[in-house]
Amino acid sequence: MSFSALGLRAELLLAVSEQGYTEPTPIQAQAIPAVLAGRDLMGGAQTGTGKTAGFTLPLLHKLAEQPAGTHGRTPVRALILVPTRELAAQVQTSVFTYGKHLPKIRSLSVYGGVGFHPQVQALKRGIDILVATPGRLLDHVAQRTVDLSKVQVLVLDEADRMLDMGFLPDIRKVLAQLPKQRQNLLFSATFSDEIKRLADGFMHDPLLIEVARRNAAAELIEQRVCPVDRERKKDLLAHLITEGNWKQVLVFTRTKHGANNLAEKLVKSGIRADAIHGNKSQPARTRALTEFKAGKIRVLVATDIAARGLDIDELPHVVNFELPHVANDYVHRIGRTGRAGSTGEAVSLVCVDELSLLRDIERLIKREIRKEIVPGFEIDPRIKAEPIVQGKRGGAQQRRPSSAPHKAAGNRPGNRGQNAPRQPAGRAGSKSSRDSGRRSFAY
Ligand code: AMP
Repeated sequence: MSFSALGLRAELLLAVSEQGYTEPTPIQAQAIPAVLAGRDLMGGAQTGTGKTAGFTLPLLHKLAEQPAGTHGRTPVRALILVPTRELAAQVQTSVFTYGKHLPKIRSLSVYGGVGFHPQVQALKRGIDILVATPGRLLDHVAQRTVDLSKVQVLVLDEADRMLDMGFLPDIRKVLAQLPKQRQNLLFSATFSDEIKRLADGFMHDPLLIEVARRNAAAELIEQRVCPVDRERKKDLLAHLITEGNWKQVLVFTRTKHGANNLAEKLVKSGIRADAIHGNKSQPARTRALTEFKAGKIRVLVATDIAARGLDIDELPHVVNFELPHVANDYVHRIGRTGRAGSTGEAVSLVCVDELSLLRDIERLIKREIRKEIVPGFEIDPRIKAEPIVQGKRGGAQQRRPSSAPHKAAGNRPGNRGQNAPRQPAGRAGSKSSRDSGRRSFAY
């Protein structure tokens, strides 16, 4: 199928071809005609499927077909709610890129961690498409610096993550500000009962579209596990980067502290690296991401939350410096590579503490990941597993008796904060973390 069969305006087709897209992805082929026809839509799709263009292109088409008034302030006509600051900025960039040949459609992203006043000024000038995180949007609502009474289309992007991050009450408050008569689009990687309940409350006869989950498409991603002793992970990572001459690698750690430490260590080894996590200011995060995309830094070390929704084209390498506690996060992490048809490599550095986490992951993706010991980094079989506590490995300063009860770490899902760590119920006392202190396994 070609883009031109979808009924989009010529200006949008031009922008799409300038991006080098030759044909719509499955979610785009299904979503674009439905949105143009005015239907409510529930799209089951993760990042990497092309979902952003799937809702942005028809949205731009519709707004361009009915230009806003030529004088006075343009009211917000489309509202896109997203869970994180990075995603807000990225979605707005897509809106801008795809809409650049259209006559004057104004878009803006608003999110926390950056100045409020410049956003107020931009909103005053009039905005057609507003991309926002829920918390900052409600701040604008409270200050009466945004008018949502003319919104025609609402998009909830990554709805499952917004719920995971405790944004449900905020979403409900935002919904209460919108006119009843409007089109609703909801995108989510998963459809939990909570999502379905939310959707039932405000959507009208939504069309359901599901595209293959990223883990189904994981053939494009070359996955391997490098077994390694816990104290040698940093050296192994530096070795892999240098020996493989990796130019751009996204590395995941479980904690912000771990991300900082690792970035510092890499810099000391002469590898340009930076960390991105919730304790960094928004400008620092944006700068790190920009430099990474531009190839100025080679390694970006990130926590799961900070990496949500990051869209980095054709990222060649993803490294799990530490395995995530929640197996599904592994799928999200490796989904940063091998995107939209390009191949990528995901390497997991796994120490003896993490073997049960590895087993959980292999069970989820229904395959065994290839194990490859890197010469010079052979395992010392005398090292026994230690418990992983509060997202950290049991180390000299962090160790505590393995009999101690594990306490939930981080914020509860209900605690708001755009960068609050997500801590799904059951994570802390999961089988994996209970297991890891007591036994040693074979890889
Ligand atoms: P998304 O799922 O929206 O985060 O998009 C993932 C990536 O796919 C982005 O880097 C897009 O630029 C790219 N992309 C979107 N649509 C297409 C398409 N039709 N053909 C090729 N790449 C695309």
